[in-house]
Amino acid sequence: MMDFLFDKFKNLLIGLLSQGYELKTLENFMETSGAKSVILRHDVDRNPLNALKTARIEAALAIKASYYFRTIKNVFDESIISEIAALGHEIGYHYENMDYCNGNVDEAYNDFCTQLEKIRKLYPVQTFCMHGSPMSPFDNRDLWKKYDYKKLGLIAEPYFDIDFNKVFYITDASRSWNNKNVSVRDKVKSSFDIKISSVEDIIRLANENKLPEKIMLNIHPHNWAGNTVEWMKIYTH
Ligand SMILES: [Zn+2]
Repeated sequence: MMDFLFDKFKNLLIGLLSQGYELKTLENFMETSGAKSVILRHDVDRNPLNALKTARIEAALAIKASYYFRTIKNVFDESIISEIAALGHEIGYHYENMDYCNGNVDEAYNDFCTQLEKIRKLYPVQTFCMHGSPMSPFDNRDLWKKYDYKKLGLIAEPYFDIDFNKVFYITDASRSWNNKNVSVRDKVKSSFDIKISSVEDIIRLANENKLPEKIMLNIHPHNWAGNTVEWMKIYTH
């Protein structure tokens, strides 16, 4: 069965909505978490055009999600970011400054501030999350051992501000569902033991009332395709 098609993504959203889940941005979740909530998070690692596609699918369903953009060339596309924001979504920073500054924490912090200002010209960024590059020897979160992001007007970084023993984390990293072998750092400590192998699985679990009340769903738009030809291209990439 072919997973990771935009039509299936849409079905997933509709399935969660039909079970009474409120789908929201991290910004909204920090304000009011509500009863059944899904924080809909997108890490835009590459292919910003695909992010625009998921953003439009969500907007058509009146859903607002959080989009975390890297600030590297080919990802930081100002017109796409502005368009996604105009659809009502939250924009945040997918940071990787320790990687870029070879682990020099002071340089990395300065770079973080510079990049944050760059995104804030397009959206008043309040939340952010780290990019976990599997190839890098550095952990981007180490920045916050020395510096305090709250002083920058930032209210939440999922790895620090979400308790993943209470919020069930679902990720499509490496184009598989909650793959334990994925990236060393793209994982969270969690008390949940719920196996997922497809979009249909998530919808079924929601229908059977077997999903936790609070969920963070991390979807990487670049993993998803509009049709089988595109799907194969990503697969063989
Ligand atoms: Zn990433």
